Amino acid sequence: MKVELISVGTEILMGNIINTNAAYLSRECAALGLSVYYEVTVGDNPDRLEKTIKEALEEVDIIILTGGLGPTSDDLTKEITAKAVGRNIHTDEHTMQRLKEYFTGRTNITANNWKTAKVIEGATVIDNHNGTAPGEIVSLDSGQQIILLPGPPNEMIPMFDQQIKPHLRALSDMGIYSKMVKVCGIGESTAEYMIRDLMEKQSNPTIAPYAKTAQVHFRVSAMAKDKAQADEIMAPTINRLKKEFGKCIYTMDEATELEEVVVDMLKERGYKLVTAESLTGGLIAATIVNVPGASDVLEESFVTYADRTKAQNLGVLEETLQKYTAVSKETAIEMAKGIQKRTGAQVSISATGIAGPDGGTKEKPVGLAFLGCCIEDKVFVKELHLKGNRRKIREMVVVNALDLIRTSLMD
Ligand code: ATP
Ligand code: MG
Repeated sequence: MKVELISVGTEILMGNIINTNAAYLSRECAALGLSVYYEVTVGDNPDRLEKTIKEALEEVDIIILTGGLGPTSDDLTKEITAKAVGRNIHTDEHTMQRLKEYFTGRTNITANNWKTAKVIEGATVIDNHNGTAPGEIVSLDSGQQIILLPGPPNEMIPMFDQQIKPHLRALSDMGIYSKMVKVCGIGESTAEYMIRDLMEKQSNPTIAPYAKTAQVHFRVSAMAKDKAQADEIMAPTINRLKKEFGKCIYTMDEATELEEVVVDMLKERGYKLVTAESLTGGLIAATIVNVPGASDVLEESFVTYADRTKAQNLGVLEETLQKYTAVSKETAIEMAKGIQKRTGAQVSISATGIAGPDGGTKEKPVGLAFLGCCIEDKVFVKELHLKGNRRKIREMVVVNALDLIRTSLMD
């Protein structure tokens, strides 16, 4: 079923408030299996609002309007909706009674407050438990429905959640189910290119790529009666992603982060991890520490920023530093080997590179970094050519370092 969300309010158009209602309703509709085709914002203007409603009726099954149900003269959503569908407005006695109770004991009730008791003829009135203006569901002869909700989120959200959702759920027996395929080690554009045929002819399931720092996540979503049917619909796409990205997929679980996967793998193997960090300045260790239970695997971390401490603390040879410089494959390897030897841990990771903005040369530009990883007596090394500002480059190095541990452990 197709939905259009219409947010009413000049203050949204002016950028004075953020349209959080539309974001909330879009998410909720998707979860209910309703397809939001359009999201329109219109100011408090009678003609433009009427035109917007009429145009929406040409296109969708359900219109959800938020805002403009209050007592003031700029609140005109229900008056204009009534006009657009050729109905009258009348006083709803039940709401009138509620308003009288609500205002009991108050003396300064201005006449316009009773305006909120007026509803569109034939509408189902939805009580507002957090304010005065009720919501309304207007069912048209065409089978279409117009749902009117108050603007303040603290009124709209509970009303939608408790009273509108069950109604919408009854209209739609389909839901949206999704899976997340998290990929590391392939650039976003390359990853998308590899599955461009899927991206081009998607309908059910759909695939949405999200570019993250040095990662790409693909959300595969299916519209289905239940989870089993959704799994069936998604299976060919998921299998294709597995085939294309293979080892680069580190999880298919939405909530799982790369560092958790690494910690779990180390735990399973009974390995201890140590880090020797230059340009990341301890960020690799800090990211590992984000994972509860990191103490089972992380032993210690050396931040060796100056050449001198790389030599002194990790045993990187003076001649290596002189011949190849600190930013080199050779130094990365010696850092990883050195800390492994010094601590006795089975697994070590090292990172050295140029985060910029200064310090780059033609041969060794900003964004060049080397990672070293020792797993017992095996050594793995990776050269990175990264683009971005200082912070971004350092974050990308961390993700790549975690992924190097992961893939090296798999070997
Ligand atoms: P009221 O009875 O308070 O006048 P209303 O239904 O007439 O409610 P509006 O007057 O359009 O709604 O908006 C009232 C307030 O609700 C706004 O000032 C704003 O704080 C909030 N609001 C309205 N629309 C939105 C929206 N789309 N997203 C987030 N907040 C909103
Ligand atoms: Mg208002």
